[in-house]
Amino acid sequence: MIFQIDKSQQQIEKAVDDFARGEFKKEVVAQLAESRQFPEKIWKKACHLGFVGIHFPESFGGEGLGMVENVLVTERLCRADSSVGACVSRAGYATEFILRFGNESQKKKWLPKVAQGKIITGGAFLEPGDDDPIGACGTTAVKEGNEWVINGVKSFVLNAGPLCGVYVVLCNTGEADSDNHLSTFLVEADRAGVTVADAGPVLGLRSMRIGTVGFEQVRVPLDHLVGSENAGRAQVLACRSERRIQAAAELLGIAVGAFERAFQHVAQREQFRRKIIDFQVTRQKLGDMATRIQAARLLTYQAASSLDQGGASEKLSAMAKLQATRTALVVCDEAVQLLGGYGYVQEYEVERFFRDARALGALDGTQIAQKNIIAEGIVKAKGSLSIS
Ligand SMILES: Cc1cc2nc3c(=O)[nH]c(=O)nc-3n(C[C@H](O)[C@H](O)[C@H](O)COP(=O)(O)OP(=O)(O)OC[C@H]3O[C@@H](n4cnc5c(N)ncnc54)[C@H](O)[C@@H]3O)c2cc1C
Repeated sequence: MIFQIDKSQQQIEKAVDDFARGEFKKEVVAQLAESRQFPEKIWKKACHLGFVGIHFPESFGGEGLGMVENVLVTERLCRADSSVGACVSRAGYATEFILRFGNESQKKKWLPKVAQGKIITGGAFLEPGDDDPIGACGTTAVKEGNEWVINGVKSFVLNAGPLCGVYVVLCNTGEADSDNHLSTFLVEADRAGVTVADAGPVLGLRSMRIGTVGFEQVRVPLDHLVGSENAGRAQVLACRSERRIQAAAELLGIAVGAFERAFQHVAQREQFRRKIIDFQVTRQKLGDMATRIQAARLLTYQAASSLDQGGASEKLSAMAKLQATRTALVVCDEAVQLLGGYGYVQEYEVERFFRDARALGALDGTQIAQKNIIAEGIVKAKGSLSIS
C-alpha cells in the first residue's frame, strides 16, 4: 500500500500554498486572532478559489473531488496558519449531513452558498449537561400541522453568530428510551426564536465563533427535516468519521507548521558558538517530531482514502484523530521549547499554534473518547487489529 499523491493533487497543494503566502500576512492573522474576528475576506477568497467544499459535487458548487483532496487543502491551510486555516476549513461545519442525507432541494439550497462563501454553517449537537450528544437529547422537535416546533439549548456551537446561515440541529423526536429517537433539522440562523450567546474568551481558535444557541418555539416547515424521521443517531454516527478526519487534517497541518517554524529557528540561531541544530539533543527532538508527523499523516490519508472508497471505519477515523491530536500537542510543545524565550512571544506564532491545537483536540471528541471508540471496535472484533 503506497500513499502517494498524484500530479493534480500536488497542484492543489501548490495552489493552497500560493494562496496562503499571498493572503495569510503575519500581522493581519495575529490581529484577527487577538481581536477575535473571523477572517472574512480570506475565507471569501478561499471560497472563490474552490478550496471550501472541494469535495462537494460540481452540481452543488463544489469541485467534485474527494475527502483526500479536502484533507490536502486543510493540511496546507492549517500549516500556513493554525487559526485562519481552521476557520476556512471549518466554514462548512456539519454540511456532511446535507451532503449525505439531505434531499436534492436541500443540497441545492445550501451547499452552493457554502462553497461560494455566502454563509458559514454550524452543527448544534452537544447540550449543557449532556454526557453524549446522541444520548438523551433534551432539545425537542414536535410536529404541529405542517411545521416542526423546536425547543432546547445547544452548547459549544462552532460558527454560531452573524455569518452563520443555517444550523444542523439534533432533536429528540421519539421515545427517549429508544435508540431511534433522534432526528436532524435544518434551521436558518435568522429564524424567529433562535438566540446566540457567545462562549466568551477562549484558549485557542480565537477567530472562530463558539456559542450557546437557544431554540425557543422555533417553527420550521416539515421539509426542513434531514433524511427520515428518527434516523438522527445513524446520521451522527455516519458523519462523525468524516468530521474526525477533517480534525485530524487540521491538527496534522498545525504540527507541520509548528515543526517548520521550529526548524527555521534552530537552523539559524547560535548558542555557545554553535547553531542550535548542531546539538545532538535538538536533532533527537527533530527526529521524534518528524516521525510523529509522518505517522499522523499516513493514518489521516488512509482514513480519508477509505472514506472516498466507501466509508472509513469509526475505528480508523478515531485512530487518525487520536494520533494527529497527540502529534500536534507534542510537536507544538517542542516547538515552543526549541524557540526558547521567543516561543513565548506572539510574533513567533508557535504559542498560538499550541493553543489552537488544544482546542481542536477537544472538538469532535477528546483523546479519551477516541480511545474508547477504538477499544470498542477491537472488543467487538474479538481482539482483531483490523481497521475495517
Ligand atoms: C473549540 C470547540 C468547538 C466545538 N464545536 C462544537 C460544535 O460545533 N458542535 C457541537 O455540538 N459541539 C462542539 N464542541 C463540543 C465538543 O465536541 C465537546 O466539548 C467534546 O466532545 C467533549 O465533550 P464535553 O465537553 O461534554 O466533555 P466531557 O465529555 O464532559 O469530558 C470531560 C473530560 O472527561 C473525560 N471523559 C469523558 N468521558 C469519559 C469516559 N467514558 N471515561 C473516562 N473519561 C471520560 C474526557 O476525555 C474529558 O477529559 C466543541 C468543543 C470545542 C472545544
